[in-house]
Parts: sequence; structure tokens; C-alpha cells
Amino acid sequence: MHEARQYTKNNDGTVSCSLCNHRCTIKEGKHGICGVRKNGHGTLFAETYGKISAEAIDPIEKKPLYHYLPGTLSYSLGGIGCNFHCEHCQNWHISRVALRDAHVRSLTPAEGVDRAIAGQCQSISWTYNEPTIWHEYTLDMGTLARIKGLGTIYVTNGYITEEALRELAPMLGAFRVDLKAFSEEFYKTVCGAHLQPVLDSTLLARELGMHIETVTLVIPGLNDEMEEISALIRWVIEHLGPATPMHFSAFHPDYKMTDRGATPVATLEKIYRRAKELGLRFPYIGNVYNHQYENTYCPACGATLIERHGFSSRFIGLDDRQCRNCGEKIEVVRHVS
Ligand code: SF4
Repeated sequence: MHEARQYTKNNDGTVSCSLCNHRCTIKEGKHGICGVRKNGHGTLFAETYGKISAEAIDPIEKKPLYHYLPGTLSYSLGGIGCNFHCEHCQNWHISRVALRDAHVRSLTPAEGVDRAIAGQCQSISWTYNEPTIWHEYTLDMGTLARIKGLGTIYVTNGYITEEALRELAPMLGAFRVDLKAFSEEFYKTVCGAHLQPVLDSTLLARELGMHIETVTLVIPGLNDEMEEISALIRWVIEHLGPATPMHFSAFHPDYKMTDRGATPVATLEKIYRRAKELGLRFPYIGNVYNHQYENTYCPACGATLIERHGFSSRFIGLDDRQCRNCGEKIEVVRHVS
């Protein structure tokens, strides 16, 4: 078993985990909220180190990431467990399963990097479930990946603590974060968490030099009020900058949330137009097949830079990081430094 990082031992035999903002104090023999970190005789163990539940070679657009190594493949790994308990989770079969019941197999960090390179991927993504709770494993693999020149990606709910994120910073290239809503009430009732720590970690990720893209799953009747969405967009523009790509995705009924229908495309289109009005350079809509608002357009002249169909991309108006038509500089990471 692999000893965890980011925790302290207490005199009474409990341990205090400081990996995510739940900051669990865990009694002997018990797990934290995420279900994968266990106190064994006063030591905190990362039970899922080196255990994967899912492995795939995905177009990076599937994350979705549109401005970080666009048009490339990303070696994608998932573990099990989650520190959020969202009622609409689309990956509940891995996020809510106990280790003893899960179908997992072993993969060392070095093997993961080798498989990424063999699969002609330019990056590794920890995705499908929450990577924060896989901290030690992703840290080890990501450190090796950077030495080999690969990009590294967290697809995350952003509930990581400052100290854990700072530890990841030398190896983590992109922070693809869910901004699930712009209301504390939503985070409390739907996810069992709080909003402010997510905003704080996203800001810190920006300060630490990571590439940021945000995703908001627009759920009818829960977070689709234009006032709330506008406030979220304004926050992103003000704190992360107008060049931050924001993805607004369609909800489909899943897991415990089947009491409402899918998000109308018209709602997403309205949000897209609002985002443009507010000054966001790169809004996108998602989970809607073949829509023009999945393309990247030049914010200066409106020329199509990258055309997307499903997860495939055609670079029709982008020369490295510049609009071919008007020369506007486009904020996109084409190579890992
Ligand atoms: S990662 Fe978060 S949920 Fe899991 S034990 Fe640590 S503080 Fe608790």
C-alpha cells in the first residue's frame, strides 16, 4: 500500500487529510469522503495508487480542451472514487464504486508514460473520475511525462487545496476545471461541497501558469438562469481573463437526476451569444453534435480558425498561434514547453 502525501498524523490516532477542501479527519480503519484514502494504524494510505479503471486514447477535444495541444491525442486514465457526490454524475459506475467491488488493473507511472508515447499521444489526461484524489500517482506519472516532453492534464472539479495544487504545479500543464454553477446553494445541495474553494483553486492554477479551460454543464431549472450564468462569465473575464475558453455543455438525464429533460440547444446558443456580448473571446457549446459554436473563430475578424466535427478538428485559418486572415494573436498552446 502506498502512503499518502498531504496529511498530518494526530495524537489520538486520527489523520487529517489536506488534499482537498473537505479536509477530512479520518479515524483508524476509516476512509475519507472520497472513499479511497484510508487511515491504517495512524498512517494515511492512497489505496488507488497505480490502479486504473479506464484507459483510452482520446482526441484532446473530448476533455473538452480546445486551446491546449488542439488536434492531438491524449492518453487518458481514470481511477475510482470522487470527493463530490453529484446527483447527475455521468461516470457514477467508477466514481461511486468501492475499491473491493471495482474492476481495476495495475499500471505503474513509467508504464503509463510508455503507453502514452507508444500511442502517439502528446499528453496524459487524468480524467473520467476526480484526479485530485489520485494525487500521488498523477504526481509521479506527470513528473515522468514532463521529462519525456508530454503535456499533462487534470480534468477536475477544482476542489484541490492550495498546498496540493502547489505540489502539482511543476508537472501540471492544464487545469480543465468544472465551474458547475455560480451559486453556493448548488454546490452544497447537488455536489456536497462549496463554491469558493473551486474559484480559489482555479485562480491559483492561473497564477501558477497552468492553461485553464472551464466547463459548465447547463442543467434546466438548476443553473440555467441567465443572470447567474452572466455573473459566472463576468467572474471568469475579470479574474482569469477574457481569453479563457469556457464550454457550456448540454445536460442529459443521468444517475439520480432523471427528473428533468436535456438542455435545449437554444439555451446554449443564448449563453454563447451572451458570453460574446460580455467580451469573452472563446465561448463554446458542447454535448451537441455538429454545431457551429464548437468551432474556434477569430475574436477580431470572425474568420473560422479551427472547424470541429465531433472530436475531429481542421485547422483552416490558424497559422501556429495567429489568425491567417487578420494576424490577430490567438491564445492557444500548440507545443509543450
Ligand atoms: S482527498 Fe478530500 S475527501 Fe479524500 S480524504 Fe482527503 S480531504 Fe477527504
